[in-house]
Formats: sequence, structure tokens, C-alpha cells
Amino acid sequence: MFENESKLMAYAMTLAERAAQLGDVPVGAVVVDTNGTIVGEGFNTREADADPVGHAEVNALRAAATSLGTWNLSGCTLVVTLEPCTMCAGAIVNSRISRVVFGAWDAKAGAAGSVRDVLRDARLPHRAEVIGGVCETQTSDQLKEWFKQELRVKSIASEAPEL
Ligand SMILES: [Zn+2]
Repeated sequence: MFENESKLMAYAMTLAERAAQLGDVPVGAVVVDTNGTIVGEGFNTREADADPVGHAEVNALRAAATSLGTWNLSGCTLVVTLEPCTMCAGAIVNSRISRVVFGAWDAKAGAAGSVRDVLRDARLPHRAEVIGGVCETQTSDQLKEWFKQELRVKSIASEAPEL
């Protein structure tokens, strides 16, 4: 099972790379059904689609719901390279997804155990099993590299002459 999760995480990282190519923070996500078959995938499209809710998880949940023909993703697992934010955790709860496996922890905005724990909040109508830190080094390195690059680009831009 864990080996399969690592494989899915590696695939989610290739989706994250597609987000980076479109100028977005590299986050990728896949939804698998009870048999482990991928039924939905997504990556950040906030920049590409000018969409404030275009996070990898939301895109993957929507794709899975479309392919399964139901909003209710009970029994499915979401695998995502970064700990979900509050918005995505809310979407996950509303999708009734059973398990969430994520890579890097997000101490700044994570809502699956870091800052908040929306996915296991007893006050909500649904809770998901959460497994964090899968392929943690690889997933956090992918994000760190992108931010390093992005900061470099921005610092060059700030030095550009004002025309
Ligand atoms: Zn999010």
C-alpha cells in the first residue's frame, strides 16, 4: 500500500511540474478509487485560468466527480504533494473522500494537521483519514526549488529599469 502511495505521489509530482510550467506553484493531486485506479487528477491552475479556487485538489476532486458521475467520492483517496489549505480541506470534506495522503507539510497554511485540522474536525459531518509526509523530502524540495527560482526572477524584475 505504501509503495503504491509513493508511486501515486511521484505521479502527482509530475502533475505539479505542469503547474510550474504554467507559472503556478507546483502542486499536483490525484484521486484514486477503492481499486487504486486513478479517476481524477489536477494541478494548480490559479494563474493559467485566473481562478482563485484553482488549486490542485479542487481540480482533481472535480475531475474525479465528473468521471464517476457523482459528487460523493466516499471510498476514494486523494493524493496531493502539499498539505491541503483550508479551502481545499473544506472541498475534501464536502466530497466525502475517505483518505487524504499528502507530501510536504505546510506550517503556514496547512489545514490537515499543521495550522488547523479541518479533515478531522469532529464538529463537521465528515472526517477523512490523513497520512502526511509521504515522500516528504522530494515534495518539499520541489516546492522549495520553485520558490527559490521565483524569488530570483522577481529580484531581477525589481532591478529592471522603469521605462
Ligand atoms: Zn488549497
